Amino acid sequence: MLRCLRTSPRAIGEPYFAVFTDTGEVPLGLDTVRHGISYAGPMRFPLALTARIAGAIIGKKLRGIEKFATVLQLEPLHTCNLTCTGCGRIREYSQSLKDVMSLEDCLGAAEECGAPMVSICGGEPLIYPHIEDLVAGLLAQKRIVYICTNGVFMRKKMRDYLAAEFAANPARTGPKIEVLVSEELLTPEQAAEIRGGKPGARNPIAPSRWMYWNVHLDSLERTHDLIVEREGVFKECIAAIRMAKILGYQVATNTTVYRETDMREIGRMFDFLSWLGVDGHTISPGYDYDAAKEDMRKRLNLEPENFFLTREMTKEKFKDIRAWGEKYNLFGTPIYLDFLAGRRDLTCSAWAIPTRNVRGWKGPCYLMTDAHHASYRDLLDKTPWENYGVVNGKARDPRCENCMVHCGYEPSATLGRDAKPGDTWANIAFNFGAKPARRIEGASVDPFNGVSAGNGHKTGRPDKQPVGK
Ligand code: SF4
Ligand code: SF4
Repeated sequence: MLRCLRTSPRAIGEPYFAVFTDTGEVPLGLDTVRHGISYAGPMRFPLALTARIAGAIIGKKLRGIEKFATVLQLEPLHTCNLTCTGCGRIREYSQSLKDVMSLEDCLGAAEECGAPMVSICGGEPLIYPHIEDLVAGLLAQKRIVYICTNGVFMRKKMRDYLAAEFAANPARTGPKIEVLVSEELLTPEQAAEIRGGKPGARNPIAPSRWMYWNVHLDSLERTHDLIVEREGVFKECIAAIRMAKILGYQVATNTTVYRETDMREIGRMFDFLSWLGVDGHTISPGYDYDAAKEDMRKRLNLEPENFFLTREMTKEKFKDIRAWGEKYNLFGTPIYLDFLAGRRDLTCSAWAIPTRNVRGWKGPCYLMTDAHHASYRDLLDKTPWENYGVVNGKARDPRCENCMVHCGYEPSATLGRDAKPGDTWANIAFNFGAKPARRIEGASVDPFNGVSAGNGHKTGRPDKQPVGK
């Protein structure tokens, strides 16, 4: 059990960090350096963020609260500029795509559940008209913010930030604009517009050590563009990631694994992203939403069974995931990774990662909808939690049978449910240990194997059957 965390000076300029556990003091050997606005430490997940999350969890446990939120999945809207194959959201909420949550409701939802981390998703959150004020409001509430985006509008949002920065401090911002133009991440026209006083958004989304862009990337160019059903999206994501790193933002990626996902290709993508300087990754097996399955049959004439993973297939796909955790900066816990690899069981704790959207608090989980509740309290009290999840290999609800996704099971690992001896140490060693080194191998990966190489699924040479066929 992790008891406390402290920092104390060891020598001038050499901070000392340690956690205190039941087995004694564990020095972290952290060589903390702050470079201007961005924070770069050698830990897997920055210390300050880990401490904030640990503090929130320990506080709840000390007060004897059994069920509480660790991450809020906030969906201020379900509108999206893409129509990815397998996306349950835009299909399930197709009748309310025009609806948006008010800014007050969004901020109120975070206050209400008290989660230390908020993942703003959707739909595409960068379409949400109050996204800047929402991010600023959540940061003011001292939450860690992830903006889960398909990447298409990221560069536009960063241009808004640059415009505000240039207006405030042209001497400091001018050289950054030069670099971005030379890297072909800004056109000369865009640079001129920024320098000329482009009317930007109020409160533009600025780099912060409490905020991550979380970019959806399901594979290298050809496969990713095929899954998102639009060519050019992968290339835009990579441009946005490069621009974000130059400007000092923290960037994570999220990847969903499907039946036809080639894990070797995902490995090459992680090599490449590591070499680009991406800060971390989450990876999760796809879930077969009813709405997505129906859409797949009707619109794409595909059989969903050929697309989504069964539990056994997930274990096979993720069998090397612990070794990947050593190579790549995977966020989360080693306990959840072991669960994905089929090395242990976990109980679903969907209440810990609740979803709030235009219709209310979605129950029981991010994936299934049996009710929308008026409050988080209502979700906790009125959901028959004992009817969900997979226990001892038996699905309590048939819809849970193939589910191993992070929003149900990662919190079980974080909160020490189903704990085994050594779990605490494994979690500490993983998350407080050294961040995996940048992958030099990434320099030799050619990620642009799709439309950029004349091999797009719509206009180029099809070299293999589309996913799901
Ligand atoms: S970008 Fe996200 S919300 Fe939009 S269609 Fe794709 S998976 Fe769904
Ligand atoms: S097992 Fe999966 S589908 Fe079932 S309640 Fe938990 S998170 Fe939802």
